Amino acid sequence: MRSRFEEHYVKSGRGGRKLDEVRDKYQKACRKLHLTHNEYVLLLCEAAEFEKDFRTVLLPGLLEYQQSVQEGFVVAWRQLLQDLAQHSDFTSEKYKDIHKRIDSSLDSIKHTEEYNDFTEKYKTNPTEAVKFSFDESLTEENAGKLLPNQLTVDNLTVEWLRTKLSDLETNIKDIQEKKSTFPPLSQEILHNGKSSTNDISASKSSLGDASKKEFNELKCQERKMLRQTELIKSALNELGCEEVPSGCDLSIDNQPFINNSNEQGDGPEPSLIKRALGHQKIVNLLKKPFRRKSEPSSPVAPPRTKGRRESTPHSDGSDPVALSSNKTLMDEEWFHGVLPREEVVRLLTQDGDFLVRETTRNDECQTVLSVCWGGHKHFIVQTTAEGLYRFEGPAFPSIRELILYQFNSGLAVTGRSGAILHKPIPRERWELNNDDVILLDKIGRGNFGDVYKAQLKSSNQDVAVKTCRVTLPEDHKKKFLQEGRILKQYDHPNIVKLIGICVQKQPIMIVMELVPGGSLLTYLRKNSAILTESQLMNMCLDASAGMRYLESKNCIHRDLAARNCLVGYANIVKISDFGMSREEEEYIVSDGMKQIPIKWTAPEALNFGKYTSLCDVWSYGILCWEIFSRGSTPYSGLSNSKAREKIDSGYRMPAPENIPDEMYRLMLRCWEYQPENRPNFEQIFTVVDTLCQAYKVSFL
Ligand code: ADP
Repeated sequence: MRSRFEEHYVKSGRGGRKLDEVRDKYQKACRKLHLTHNEYVLLLCEAAEFEKDFRTVLLPGLLEYQQSVQEGFVVAWRQLLQDLAQHSDFTSEKYKDIHKRIDSSLDSIKHTEEYNDFTEKYKTNPTEAVKFSFDESLTEENAGKLLPNQLTVDNLTVEWLRTKLSDLETNIKDIQEKKSTFPPLSQEILHNGKSSTNDISASKSSLGDASKKEFNELKCQERKMLRQTELIKSALNELGCEEVPSGCDLSIDNQPFINNSNEQGDGPEPSLIKRALGHQKIVNLLKKPFRRKSEPSSPVAPPRTKGRRESTPHSDGSDPVALSSNKTLMDEEWFHGVLPREEVVRLLTQDGDFLVRETTRNDECQTVLSVCWGGHKHFIVQTTAEGLYRFEGPAFPSIRELILYQFNSGLAVTGRSGAILHKPIPRERWELNNDDVILLDKIGRGNFGDVYKAQLKSSNQDVAVKTCRVTLPEDHKKKFLQEGRILKQYDHPNIVKLIGICVQKQPIMIVMELVPGGSLLTYLRKNSAILTESQLMNMCLDASAGMRYLESKNCIHRDLAARNCLVGYANIVKISDFGMSREEEEYIVSDGMKQIPIKWTAPEALNFGKYTSLCDVWSYGILCWEIFSRGSTPYSGLSNSKAREKIDSGYRMPAPENIPDEMYRLMLRCWEYQPENRPNFEQIFTVVDTLCQAYKVSFL
């Protein structure tokens, strides 16, 4: 503005309007500049002052303020803590007073008094204590075997009892160990019955109570098990040297040896007797003792008087229980070898009857004295450390001497049994010595062992001998002898004949008549080309005659088939293999259907396990089919289950070639689904016999 003013001043020569204007503007600009300058100076002054104040007044003031705030807090906290300290002063009179009141209140709590009447006040009437008593009606049917409240120790239970005993003993030991880990305090509490009332034990009482409860529970368990242990131990100890008795008396179901063939046909049928007299009577009736023909008839049972003795004299007049001879136990007539217990029981019929036999238990051979004395008692001969033999009395160097001592002294074998030996029971005619038989050639192989052609030493008679493998378990050996037991009472040309059983030692054997043609099945196959229809008809007739006989004896064969028939001279067929047979009108299988010959078995036996002679009739139909098809396999090409299915849906095998129509019609009748629609063997025999006669006539 100044330079413009100077410019105009020069141009206009110090006057004029324009110059005034420029001078104004110049003056205004100067003024503005000077004012700004002044403002600036003032602001600088202010800033300098502020700066000075900031450092000397404001900043220190801020810190002072902070300090005063902190101090204020401290004062406040201090006040607070002071109040707290003041109010929580347990030494203050106020507190002392409160505590006194608390203490006196606590003192007035008496736990024994607080719940003084608790049980009386709150108890309800408990239900009556349950009396656990044995329901005696449960054992009525088994009277004699199972006694109320008494453990039964027999061959069925003894192992179980022993295991149970050892389990219990282990458990008791565990419990006793656990008990010993409890602190004595808790045990003391238990023993005293009450816990102490002093303060220390009261404060520990919750721990003590828990231990006490657990300890008590263990103690109860222990007591319970000890009681059971005692029961089992005393039951097992009761046995002493007696052999574990048989739990299942099979002697009722099995027929006795009948030595006099007259007895077979004359007496009433066993099943009829069973129905008329009831079981116990039939047992007695069937227990008629065997007497050799040369022997006197059965003496009256001796009274149970000490020392009374009687022996069945030998035919040579010698006393079978005389000690003088140099016999061994094996030589004694009353030594029966490994005769099964069921047979033994049947032989001993009167009090005082006795015999000696052998048995195997856990692979160990034991000698057993079996005595009839208010039932049957079996005593195992005990061996002393010195190798002597004894029961409860004195020991002897040989078992024979021990038995003779028992017999001659008339003393009871054991105190518990009171059994006295009155009469030695000699071996039966059927009980052959193993050494009486000379095995020659092996002629077959059975389920239990090999079959041999053999010779009887005494008569040079050719025989067939079925042997039972030594390694088979005891129950298999019993099953093996079952065949002998059944066969020994039968006498019919079409039933294979039993000569005897060898049970003197292992292997046990069944001696039978030798049927030279061997198995019918093999015979049919071997001779299929040469067998005539007439011969085949006669085979069917033989089989029906044998089966008619069995039917009349109430014997169900259950395994009739060509493989189980034998062929003798002149093609005579004999029914054999009675291993599955049962002597009953009706037999219900309860132990599963193991090894059932499905294709030979009637539907009701397969479906419901129900066997009657009419089941044998079904099998007879199959047997005739096998005969006429010359040893073919029935339902060939069909599995067992498929064959069964087809039969259930009505299928029947077609007629074999060249079979007479009547014979096939008879077969179809044998295969009627409902057993009651089948003919019985009496009727079958009549039909086949008539057919055979007609055949002969037409052939002639
Ligand atoms: P298992 O009943 O143990 O099966 P078997 O009775 O079937 O034994 O006999 C097996 C084989 O021994 C028969 O197939 C037959 O060849 C032969 N056999 C059995 N008994 C006699 C006998 N009395 N006479 C001739 N051979 C026999």
